[in-house]
Amino acid sequence: MEIIKTTRGGDKLCLDGFMYVKKRTYSNWIRWNCARSRTTGCKGALTTSDSFEDPRSFLSHNHPADRTGVEVTKLRTTMKAQAKQSRSRPNQILTQALLQASTEVRANLGSVQTCKRDLQRQRRGRLPKDPASLQELVIPDESATSQPGSPFLCGTSRKSP
Ligand SMILES: [Zn+2]
Repeated sequence: MEIIKTTRGGDKLCLDGFMYVKKRTYSNWIRWNCARSRTTGCKGALTTSDSFEDPRSFLSHNHPADRTGVEVTKLRTTMKAQAKQSRSRPNQILTQALLQASTEVRANLGSVQTCKRDLQRQRRGRLPKDPASLQELVIPDESATSQPGSPFLCGTSRKSP
Protein backbone atom coordinates (compact mmCIF):
# COMPACT_ATOMS: atom_id res chain seq x y z
CA MET A 1 0.00 0.00 0.00
CA GLU A 2 1.22 3.48 -0.80
CA ILE A 3 -0.11 6.96 -0.09
CA ILE A 4 0.64 9.77 -2.53
CA LYS A 5 -0.10 13.48 -2.28
CA THR A 6 -2.04 15.10 -5.08
CA THR A 7 -1.20 18.60 -6.31
CA ARG A 8 -4.23 19.89 -4.47
CA GLY A 9 -2.97 18.47 -1.20
CA GLY A 10 -5.30 15.48 -1.12
CA ASP A 11 -4.28 11.90 -0.40
CA LYS A 12 -4.49 8.98 -2.79
CA LEU A 13 -4.07 5.39 -1.75
CA CYS A 14 -2.63 2.79 -4.13
CA LEU A 15 -3.16 -0.89 -3.37
CA ASP A 16 -3.09 -4.03 -5.51
CA GLY A 17 -3.67 -2.23 -8.80
CA PHE A 18 -6.48 -0.04 -7.51
CA MET A 19 -6.38 3.60 -6.58
CA TYR A 20 -8.53 5.26 -3.94
CA VAL A 21 -9.29 8.81 -2.90
CA LYS A 22 -9.99 9.80 0.67
CA LYS A 23 -13.71 10.05 1.20
CA ARG A 24 -14.01 10.78 4.88
CA THR A 25 -11.95 10.76 8.05
CA TYR A 26 -13.60 9.39 11.18
CA SER A 27 -12.18 9.52 14.71
CA ASN A 28 -9.77 6.61 14.22
CA TRP A 29 -10.34 5.35 10.70
CA ILE A 30 -10.57 6.62 7.14
CA ARG A 31 -12.94 5.66 4.38
CA TRP A 32 -11.52 5.55 0.83
CA ASN A 33 -13.48 5.30 -2.41
CA CYS A 34 -12.25 3.96 -5.72
CA ALA A 35 -10.68 6.75 -7.80
CA ARG A 36 -12.82 5.60 -10.72
CA SER A 37 -16.10 5.95 -8.87
CA ARG A 38 -17.02 9.06 -10.85
CA THR A 39 -16.02 7.82 -14.27
CA THR A 40 -17.21 4.21 -14.04
CA GLY A 41 -19.66 4.29 -11.15
CA CYS A 42 -17.45 1.80 -9.31
CA LYS A 43 -18.44 1.29 -5.69
CA GLY A 44 -15.07 -0.15 -4.66
CA ALA A 45 -14.11 1.10 -1.21
CA LEU A 46 -11.89 0.31 1.72
CA THR A 47 -11.01 1.54 5.17
CA THR A 48 -7.69 2.14 6.87
CA SER A 49 -6.71 3.27 10.32
CA ASP A 50 -6.18 7.02 10.78
CA SER A 51 -2.44 6.43 10.33
CA PHE A 52 -3.03 4.86 6.88
CA GLU A 53 -2.53 1.30 8.10
CA ASP A 54 -4.49 -1.93 8.14
CA PRO A 55 -6.36 -1.58 4.80
CA ARG A 56 -9.62 -3.51 4.68
CA SER A 57 -11.58 -3.80 1.49
CA PHE A 58 -15.31 -3.94 2.06
CA LEU A 59 -16.80 -3.21 -1.35
CA SER A 60 -15.44 -4.77 -4.53
CA HIS A 61 -14.73 -3.08 -7.86
CA ASN A 62 -16.64 -3.35 -11.12
CA HIS A 63 -13.41 -3.35 -13.15
CA PRO A 64 -10.18 -5.36 -13.08
CA ALA A 65 -7.07 -4.23 -11.23
CA ASP A 66 -4.72 -2.13 -13.36
CA ARG A 67 -1.24 -2.11 -11.85
CA THR A 68 0.37 -0.31 -14.77
CA GLY A 69 -2.43 2.28 -14.81
CA VAL A 70 -1.90 2.93 -11.11
CA GLU A 71 1.87 3.25 -11.61
CA VAL A 72 1.31 5.71 -14.48
CA THR A 73 -1.09 7.85 -12.43
CA LYS A 74 1.31 7.71 -9.50
CA LEU A 75 4.21 8.88 -11.65
CA ARG A 76 2.16 11.69 -13.22
CA THR A 77 0.98 12.87 -9.81
CA THR A 78 4.50 12.80 -8.40
CA MET A 79 5.89 14.74 -11.37
CA LYS A 80 3.16 17.37 -11.15
CA ALA A 81 3.79 17.84 -7.44
CA GLN A 82 7.50 18.26 -8.18
CA ALA A 83 6.79 20.76 -10.94
CA LYS A 84 4.71 22.74 -8.51
CA GLN A 85 7.01 22.58 -5.51
CA SER A 86 10.58 22.26 -6.69
CA ARG A 87 12.75 24.51 -8.82
CA SER A 88 13.64 21.74 -11.25
CA ARG A 89 12.65 22.34 -14.83
CA PRO A 90 9.92 20.15 -16.39
CA ASN A 91 12.59 18.54 -18.57
CA GLN A 92 14.67 17.49 -15.56
CA ILE A 93 11.65 16.17 -13.69
CA LEU A 94 10.53 14.13 -16.67
CA THR A 95 14.00 12.71 -17.38
CA GLN A 96 14.42 11.73 -13.74
CA ALA A 97 11.02 10.07 -13.63
CA LEU A 98 11.54 8.15 -16.85
CA LEU A 99 14.85 6.77 -15.56
CA GLN A 100 13.03 5.14 -12.66
CA ALA A 101 9.93 4.02 -14.53
CA SER A 102 9.40 0.49 -15.80
CA THR A 103 9.05 -0.22 -19.52
CA GLU A 104 5.27 -0.68 -19.19
CA VAL A 105 4.87 2.60 -17.35
CA ARG A 106 6.97 4.43 -19.92
CA ALA A 107 4.93 2.94 -22.75
CA ASN A 108 1.68 4.11 -21.15
CA LEU A 109 2.75 7.54 -20.01
CA GLY A 110 1.82 9.24 -23.28
CA SER A 111 3.99 11.45 -25.42
CA VAL A 112 6.89 13.39 -23.98
CA GLN A 113 5.34 16.60 -25.34
CA THR A 114 2.07 16.04 -23.49
CA CYS A 115 3.90 15.27 -20.25
CA LYS A 116 6.02 18.40 -20.53
CA ARG A 117 2.99 20.53 -21.28
CA ASP A 118 1.26 19.13 -18.19
CA LEU A 119 4.26 19.98 -16.05
CA GLN A 120 4.59 23.47 -17.51
CA ARG A 121 0.94 24.07 -16.72
CA GLN A 122 1.63 23.20 -13.07
CA ARG A 123 4.55 25.58 -13.08
CA ARG A 124 2.49 28.44 -14.52
CA GLY A 125 -0.19 27.84 -11.90
CA ARG A 126 2.24 28.93 -9.21
CA LEU A 127 1.82 32.36 -7.73
CA PRO A 128 4.62 34.80 -8.53
CA LYS A 129 7.03 35.23 -5.64
CA ASP A 130 6.71 38.28 -3.47
CA PRO A 131 8.83 41.16 -4.75
CA ALA A 132 11.78 42.13 -2.56
CA SER A 133 11.44 45.80 -3.49
CA LEU A 134 9.12 48.15 -5.36
CA GLN A 135 11.49 48.06 -8.34
CA GLU A 136 10.75 44.36 -8.66
CA LEU A 137 7.01 44.82 -8.40
CA VAL A 138 5.57 44.37 -11.86
CA ILE A 139 1.83 44.38 -12.27
CA PRO A 140 0.87 42.70 -15.53
CA ASP A 141 -1.45 44.75 -17.72
CA GLU A 142 -4.27 42.23 -17.46
CA SER A 143 -4.28 42.71 -13.67
CA ALA A 144 -4.34 46.49 -13.95
CA THR A 145 -7.40 46.87 -16.13
CA SER A 146 -10.99 46.22 -15.20
CA GLN A 147 -12.30 46.12 -18.76
CA PRO A 148 -10.20 45.82 -21.86
CA GLY A 149 -8.27 49.05 -22.14
CA SER A 150 -9.60 50.84 -19.08
CA PRO A 151 -7.05 51.03 -16.28
CA PHE A 152 -8.26 51.09 -12.69
CA LEU A 153 -4.85 51.41 -11.08
CA CYS A 154 -4.42 55.20 -11.10
CA GLY A 155 -1.56 57.42 -10.11
CA THR A 156 -2.02 59.83 -7.19
CA SER A 157 -1.96 62.82 -9.55
CA ARG A 158 -4.98 61.63 -11.50
CA LYS A 159 -8.02 63.86 -10.97
CA SER A 160 -11.50 62.48 -10.81
CA PRO A 161 -13.65 63.53 -13.78
ZN1 LIG B 1 -12.99 0.57 -8.64
